[in-house]
Amino acid sequence: MTTLAEDDLARDWRSARPVAAGVHVDSAACSRQSFATIDAAAQHARHEAEVGGYVAAAAAQSVLDAGRAGIGALIGMGADDVAFTTGSNHALDLLLGSWPGPRTVACALGEYGPNLALMAAHGFTVSPLAVDEHGRVRADAVAAALHADSPALVHLTGIGSHRGVAQPLAEVADACRTAGVPLVLDAAQALGQLDCAIGADAVYSSSRKWMAGPRGVGFLAVRPGLAQRLRRRVPPPEWELPISAMQSFEQHEANLAARVGFSVAVGQHLAAGPAAVRARLASIGRATRTLLDGVGGWRVVEPRDERTAITTLAPPAGVQPAVVRDWLITERGIVTTVAESARAPFELTGPVLRLSPHVDVTAADLQACAEALESAATTPIRT
Ligand SMILES: *Cc1c(COP(=O)(O)O)cnc(C)c1O
Repeated sequence: MTTLAEDDLARDWRSARPVAAGVHVDSAACSRQSFATIDAAAQHARHEAEVGGYVAAAAAQSVLDAGRAGIGALIGMGADDVAFTTGSNHALDLLLGSWPGPRTVACALGEYGPNLALMAAHGFTVSPLAVDEHGRVRADAVAAALHADSPALVHLTGIGSHRGVAQPLAEVADACRTAGVPLVLDAAQALGQLDCAIGADAVYSSSRKWMAGPRGVGFLAVRPGLAQRLRRRVPPPEWELPISAMQSFEQHEANLAARVGFSVAVGQHLAAGPAAVRARLASIGRATRTLLDGVGGWRVVEPRDERTAITTLAPPAGVQPAVVRDWLITERGIVTTVAESARAPFELTGPVLRLSPHVDVTAADLQACAEALESAATTPIRT
């Protein structure tokens, strides 16, 4: 059995949203939104029908400004440093597309595959940062690497999509600051799970993951020192228009209802207490790993006490995680994700099953996951 106890945070989070149909342990993919978030987005859509999309947009400005300020508070930046995007990949695309000067970037071996694709598309040459056996960047090695041969930027994915290992954000930020190399933080998984106010020069993330906002929205935040150096891509910089790179990032034609919902979700996260959420998620990760390691022959990849709520399981010999993932949904109502090696092509050697519960998960939910994995090991699953 697990020792995971209920607390007020878990109860409040659960009662603030619809009842889950089954067991949802998939927040690293997409969390469950709250009633307030869903209602805010729906109300904005209704307002568009009543007064017109552009009039409704003007009326929503204060909510969106509060959203930017809330995001800024979470990452140690100001509201003006934040632009809404359609997600994390879009944010990185915008940032790299406007990068000034040499296009060389250092990142960890386990860098997210789609990020590597964007780096390549923008003509960046990638060099690896040394990692330990868990894929954790060694901050001392970062300092040495930056001293020896400085890349134009360091790109760090705070927590990967393929493994719940937390990178040493503050230590890497220190090393970058000392070396005078800008740090870009992919906080798609880290926002909500780790303290992301570590002084990175740019931070981006998505709404739907640990912030539990709507899909299709995210943000790019850039500190003024770096923002001033960025080279606006569209409209072309030689067109002398009074539009900063930062201003050029935020698309005017957008799903404003989703931005409104995201802003409300960020407000709810701040009200719940980011430190309390982080602590709860860390204890959930520990409970999940303690319970599941070895069950049905699955092996936990992360160190047991890793301070994240993402648990990945390497399959027993001959078992395909994708088949088990589908079986868990259809037969047990348990929602998980399979991470294929494309998510971290230089680190992940085969697919893993990923469980990522949010703060409301119960000991009974985790027990159901354990029991299902045990059954899957003895039930012939038709493919
Ligand atoms: C999900 C994810 C992304 C991409 O986010 P989108 O909002 O889908 O673009 C980037 N990096 C990591 C680590 C992710 O987990």
